[in-house]
Amino acid sequence: MDKLPTRLARAGTEPDPETGAVSPPIHLSSTFARTVEGEPTGGYVYSRLDNPTRRRLEEALADAEGGRHARAFASGMAAAMSLFQALDPGDHIILPHDIYFGVRALATGPFKRWGLDVSHIDMSNAASLEAAFKPTTRLVWIESPSNPLLTITDIAAVSELAHHHEAHVVVDNTWPSPALTRPIEHGADIVLHSVTKYLGGHSDVLGGALVFAKEDDLFSRVVEIQREAGAVLDPFSSWLTLRGMRSLIPRITHQCNSALQLATWLDSHKAVEAVHYPGLPSHPSHDTARRQMSAFGGMLSFRVHGGKMAALDLVRTSRLFTNATSLGGTESLMEHRASAEGDGSTTPENLLRVSVGLESVDDLQDDLSQALDLI
Ligand SMILES: *Cc1c(COP(=O)(O)O)cnc(C)c1O
Repeated sequence: MDKLPTRLARAGTEPDPETGAVSPPIHLSSTFARTVEGEPTGGYVYSRLDNPTRRRLEEALADAEGGRHARAFASGMAAAMSLFQALDPGDHIILPHDIYFGVRALATGPFKRWGLDVSHIDMSNAASLEAAFKPTTRLVWIESPSNPLLTITDIAAVSELAHHHEAHVVVDNTWPSPALTRPIEHGADIVLHSVTKYLGGHSDVLGGALVFAKEDDLFSRVVEIQREAGAVLDPFSSWLTLRGMRSLIPRITHQCNSALQLATWLDSHKAVEAVHYPGLPSHPSHDTARRQMSAFGGMLSFRVHGGKMAALDLVRTSRLFTNATSLGGTESLMEHRASAEGDGSTTPENLLRVSVGLESVDDLQDDLSQALDLI
């Protein structure tokens, strides 16, 4: 098999059999002709069930993650929702303390009312994970690096423990992307993506995906929910995501290099209290990150001296970092995460979360430097 950079560069570019087009067509058709007997004439019936552009993306996603099947959803949260809906009321799931705010809100809000039993633990601590299992535990959730504190979880170790308890492991791989970590290779059963971030890569598409290592009962249930409930990714967003995936490797390589440089520089800056970045040797799980990731990612968080006011001042005086939520685009973003998360946030008030873009890293460092000098 060709290497991942080769496969990604060519993702979805199998020439269109009708025209030879190298850039894939966007099939907007909601419905497809059938024979008088009701058989599909071209393999498709109705776009909620399956769509040629979405299928191209799903095949590319499964290939990139080394999975058996993938399904693309209307957003990352729609993917998470569909996975939760595939469980039964009363089933138990284990979430890490540090996790994307929206997933925690979904699990402890709507799905608590629906009957899901949720535990929150420190996923980096094997003893607390072992103690959290119940006979009803169906799913263990990993996010690594986590949001927004960039903790690292050992996917292989957690998967081994979870499988011993007959639970599935889902890894939210949005931050590293398959370019840096392929969780299925470490034993995970399911990979979740917000393709809105690095896979789309240009802050112009909202979408999500689930990739399955095997075709089991949970996969069948998710497929049923996707087909019947219809939180599917539309054809144009599928096409944009495929286009983004073709340049994933060079984009994230640049972003990783810049993030490492900025994290190292920030770590020795006198206005900075702490830097959270797994590429720093001082990171508590640096060794696990080295084993599990091919580079340390384009995301970092740092905490400034002077509390919330100093953090907000930095956002105000930065010129190159757009103050916006989200990540993985070509433009650098910085946000005061506690404000963005609002009520219920457990994020430190002096923390800023940065998504490093494709700008010159020297310009980014100069900009942070002038902003830090002013606080
Ligand atoms: C953005 C994000 C999500 C949610 O995805 P949407 O596409 O915004 O619905 C889930 N997990 C992580 C880690 C994210 O960054």
